[in-house]
Amino acid sequence: MPRPSSRQPVPDEREEIRAIYAALEARPLPRDCQMRTRCCHFRLAGHTPMLTLGEALYAARGVRASGRKNLKPHPDGACPLLGQDGRCTIYQHRPFGCRTHFCQAAGGMYPRKHVADLIQRLEALDEKLGGEGGRPLAGIIEEVLSKWPKKS
Ligand code: SF4
Repeated sequence: MPRPSSRQPVPDEREEIRAIYAALEARPLPRDCQMRTRCCHFRLAGHTPMLTLGEALYAARGVRASGRKNLKPHPDGACPLLGQDGRCTIYQHRPFGCRTHFCQAAGGMYPRKHVADLIQRLEALDEKLGGEGGRPLAGIIEEVLSKWPKKS
């Protein structure tokens, strides 16, 4: 991940990330996320979302918008963004993996062929932003929050 300096502009991922997430929502794939949040319990789900830098920057905006400056580990080993009420605290900013449902109850994982072009766009954005490819959710969001603490 690039090191920020006072002269280095803060990377802005918003336009492309929002376009990717909007394109995903427009796909005619039947899915039914009812925020059951089983997929947020990584040990139960057997899966931890991997985020590209653009996704992490966008998720970090959701964290800051909720008034937090860093992540606290969840006592059950679940996603640190899972709130005490059992809901995702950054639902509008949740990463691509959380939108493509590794939750079986919501319809299971999207077939890769239906989202391969969007994954390629995330990877292209990652490269443009100086990312290092997909990394586990908590670590990459923590890193973004500490490197760009005041990003709008
Ligand atoms: S970011 Fe939100 S939807 Fe994704 S695993 Fe964490 S709590 Fe669940």
